Amino acid sequence: MKTVEDYNFRGKKAIIRVDFNVPLDSNYNITDDSRIKAALPTVEKVLKDGGSVILMSHLGRPKEGPEERYSLKHIVDHLSRLLQREVKFADDCVGNSAVEIGDNLKPGEVLLLENLRFHKEETKGDRDFANKLASLADVYVNDAFGTAHRAHASTTVIAEFFSEDKMFGLLLARELKSIEKVVKDIKRPYLAIIGGAKVSTKIDVLNNIIDKVDDLIIGGGMMFTFIKSQGGKIGKSLVEDDYLETAREMMYYAKSKNVNIHLPVDAVIADDFSNDANTRVCKSDQIPDGWMGMDIGEKARQSFSSIIGNAKNILWNGPMGVAEMDKFVAGTESIVKAMVEATEKGAFTLVGGGDSVATINRLGMAAKVSYVSTGGGALLEYIEGKELPGVKAILKD
Ligand code: AMP
Repeated sequence: MKTVEDYNFRGKKAIIRVDFNVPLDSNYNITDDSRIKAALPTVEKVLKDGGSVILMSHLGRPKEGPEERYSLKHIVDHLSRLLQREVKFADDCVGNSAVEIGDNLKPGEVLLLENLRFHKEETKGDRDFANKLASLADVYVNDAFGTAHRAHASTTVIAEFFSEDKMFGLLLARELKSIEKVVKDIKRPYLAIIGGAKVSTKIDVLNNIIDKVDDLIIGGGMMFTFIKSQGGKIGKSLVEDDYLETAREMMYYAKSKNVNIHLPVDAVIADDFSNDANTRVCKSDQIPDGWMGMDIGEKARQSFSSIIGNAKNILWNGPMGVAEMDKFVAGTESIVKAMVEATEKGAFTLVGGGDSVATINRLGMAAKVSYVSTGGGALLEYIEGKELPGVKAILKD
């Protein structure tokens, strides 16, 4: 795997696909800069060699052309402070300003391009658009794991225009190595903890890991489809009735393979999908009519913590409850704490996906697990065994 470590950037211009898709508040202040910080080692390696850097990223999901709230200009000052040098900005990623500033870029200088997704050609994987980006630089580096599962112009198609001079950034390389460790070099017991809203969006992952794990904890909204499939009463909890049969089959299959599927024994229930709702705790398969499960209960937290404590290889994706509401975050927090303890005891612990990562960051525990992946979708697709287009494009001659 060729990375920036294997290349001397002296006198070269490197265009680096980073993931600067950071959350901004209503005054455009960055509320979590971990994605920017994660990209710094690659940028600094190029600069240290005596190269110059052109950074490109998306931010948010602009619909039709430029939108103020998705402009990457909001991060220029912060990036400049982190790099301790001026960061130039081109207000269009492929326009005249990009070409002009790019042409005049000197060793040690950094240029940030405006949001790639202000052009619909980016997500369409347009060749001409990719070529325009490519022509700004001598070397292409992909350091954005979060979008490596997308065949976009800047993540995949652009690589065609660099025969030799294309490589992985340090972050992307580290992501791939860490995930491979969970997938290939498995210590047992191997536990997967899968939460989040729906079975339908996680079914491919579940199908893929069910053959590999010893234990599978299922939490979040998706647990209610499983509980209902076993004849439980779930009130008005989130459910996908068209996945009941899938859930039933998975329970049956797991049993035949000696894989333990753990569903929470109790749940925090609410009379409304709101932080102000009335709440109670009950058995997770006896939820009264008019109530919905919003988090795992205390007994489930204890039992899941002890399963986590016994595992040696742990993959976690997706919250145990509606973690963005304070009232229903405790179940997800209990998983974070148990993961940290398991890591201290020597387990390999990998966390990925927006909400699980947000919870671990909020608790300040990210450094206390083995690895926090910046990718949600990309992490899951990689674990599913799919080839990521962004990775394949770099490996291809
Ligand atoms: P995902 O993106 O699939 O990992 O799902 C994350 C979402 O699942 C979060 O927005 C949570 O609010 C949601 N979620 C977790 N538990 C529940 C639940 N019990 N009922 C409804 N939504 C839930």
